[in-house]
Amino acid sequence: MTRTDLYGVWSCLLQNQPVEIVAENLDNAKLNDYRIGLQNLITDNVEQPLMQTKVTVTFRDYKKSVRLTLPDLMVNLCMWGFVLEAGHTLKPWHLFFCKKGIDKKAIANYINKYAIIPNRETMDPKRLNEMIYTNHKTLKFAEKFALFYNNSINHEDFILMANACPEFDELMHKDYSNLPADQMNAEAMKDCNRIIELILESKKWIGRDHCLADAFRAKVGVKPKQFREMISNIGIKPNGEGGIFPHSIDASYMRGGLNRFEWMVAEAGIGRQAQILSKQNTADSGAFARVLGLNQIDTSLYTDEFGNVDPDYDCHTKNFVEVTLTEENIEMYQDRFFRLHPDGMEYNTGCLNTLRHDLVGQTIYLRSPITCASAARGQGICRKCYGNLFMGNRIVNIGKIAAELISQTLTQLMLSAKHLLEAKISKIEWSIPQEQFDQFFTFDDEDIYVNSEFLGGKKWLIHIDRDSVDTETVVSMSDSDGDGDDFDILRDYITQFEIITPEGEVIEIHGTNNECLYLQDEFCKLINSKQYEDETDIFIPITDLQQSRIPVFGVGIYNDDLGKNLKEVMSIINLKTKTCNYTRHEILRDFINKLIDCGMGGIRSVHAEIIIMNQIRAVDDVLLKPDWDYPDQEYRILTLRQALETNPSIQVTMQYENLARTLYKPISFRKTAPSKLDMFAHVQPQVYMAEKVESEVQTKPLFEIIEKPEDLNN
Ligand SMILES: [Zn+2]
Repeated sequence: MTRTDLYGVWSCLLQNQPVEIVAENLDNAKLNDYRIGLQNLITDNVEQPLMQTKVTVTFRDYKKSVRLTLPDLMVNLCMWGFVLEAGHTLKPWHLFFCKKGIDKKAIANYINKYAIIPNRETMDPKRLNEMIYTNHKTLKFAEKFALFYNNSINHEDFILMANACPEFDELMHKDYSNLPADQMNAEAMKDCNRIIELILESKKWIGRDHCLADAFRAKVGVKPKQFREMISNIGIKPNGEGGIFPHSIDASYMRGGLNRFEWMVAEAGIGRQAQILSKQNTADSGAFARVLGLNQIDTSLYTDEFGNVDPDYDCHTKNFVEVTLTEENIEMYQDRFFRLHPDGMEYNTGCLNTLRHDLVGQTIYLRSPITCASAARGQGICRKCYGNLFMGNRIVNIGKIAAELISQTLTQLMLSAKHLLEAKISKIEWSIPQEQFDQFFTFDDEDIYVNSEFLGGKKWLIHIDRDSVDTETVVSMSDSDGDGDDFDILRDYITQFEIITPEGEVIEIHGTNNECLYLQDEFCKLINSKQYEDETDIFIPITDLQQSRIPVFGVGIYNDDLGKNLKEVMSIINLKTKTCNYTRHEILRDFINKLIDCGMGGIRSVHAEIIIMNQIRAVDDVLLKPDWDYPDQEYRILTLRQALETNPSIQVTMQYENLARTLYKPISFRKTAPSKLDMFAHVQPQVYMAEKVESEVQTKPLFEIIEKPEDLNN
């Protein structure tokens, strides 16, 4: 093989001849040859001075040129594929160069800006996906050179840094043992971030990059929080039951490690806890993902009578969702249509660099799937209500995607070990001052007892509204022999109760985040023993509880830190007392704020809106959607559970829990809506799989297809 075969146009570089690329002449076929040739050249010469050669790229139309080193050029050849494969010509702004190192966000931005946004309206989405996939894959070449560019780990670089830089040395050896437990980890984290800064400027100290410099630049490979335990301080550790171990670990793995017996116990304990919790949480999050997906399965985009997606159709809804835009949430509302006044003009929020930051602080009237008139009629969400993701998402099940995006990220949050490595001292904040609460109650682990020192007398009462008692499935069990009935272990809980003083004054008590207060078994027995029972209310004299020493409530036993985010998101869409009392504006606001709290601000709001849309029904008939053609239309919001039980499709409800009840409930016999799931109930589902499910019209009867066997052969 000659050099020209191997290196193509780049073989000139070996003879010290300059190479110039004219951007306007580049096309996709040429680009591919350039990429292969250059990769071969770099592979063979990565240790040679040739690597410092620069290649000129000229933009003739703009009378501009730029000189790139071979590695920079290689990265650019990969990135230009996104532009050229879609048939565009290369412009100066398509150059890809990141001063602080390339991270995945920079690559994603480039793809959004130059591949997706210019092409999503015109290009077939499958083709666009394929183009992004193939070009993104070309960047894999970098892996080959990972070791050459010192992307490894060694102790030597840390020692060199400590010797050369006094601040680095001091931070590595700092003593945290004199700090209070709640400050220890925060202080170590602050120092760890400084150590990372020093590593990023390591060239200044040791004359070359520290082995982890590239990892921190690219923000992959090492997480700062885990690095903290490695280099600065391990600190306090959670015990997996909401508390912390009494011994903080005043060492890092590089400096001493677990060299005391109690530290080893703490680390071994939390390792074991992590396994137990993640097993429990996998079940919880799996069930949530499945149920959430089920309720969205029949969501679709608007199509005309021939089944084609129609981007020009507008449902002209008279109802909107009021959204107050903030710096935190504006990116979630990219690409959406809105008005500044319900009867005013319609605008678009823009995206990326055209995003309308001037709208921050304003309340807009958002066109949303929640109030899309065409979706409510069963004809699919129109483009104006869905926003500009409409064209790109026309090849996917938009309902399943919405559920998937939200549940998979939550699952990741719950299962990832990094949350276990973080000790959080969490405590319920009560609606009344803590001193007042302590006067009435005491804690023993996770049980709440009436304070034995409370001197109130028989006239003080605890009041619980029977209607406010909810039931939670703690765990589902099945008989060990496998053929018996499944059974659930249920626990009753409330989120608030009252104390009534002898004067009749009512003190309302609840956790500020509506934490579950589980009614303990003995307490349930006591209140069910009839002596306190009324029709709907339970009144118990405080002294009765004082004497019997029965725990009143349990808190947080199944509400560990890992499950907290999921529980809170769930409570917005699936807690009767909360979900059903929201307006559509409030539920979206709280849902979005919660997603932001969980670090899920990268998800577009439209997906959350689809989930809400599928839980909204007409006031007069729970099987119907509100008619959004009329202004100020009334509606009601159901919990996810209610939405599934009253889903207009019988197939969907039958896929949900408690099939036996579904089969005899009267509402089941009123359900006639079709579902994508219907196909699986057919004798030959494969015949129907490619058919579109009509929302109004019935699907073709089976015999029509069997009568024309010649059609099947073609
Ligand atoms: Zn619409």
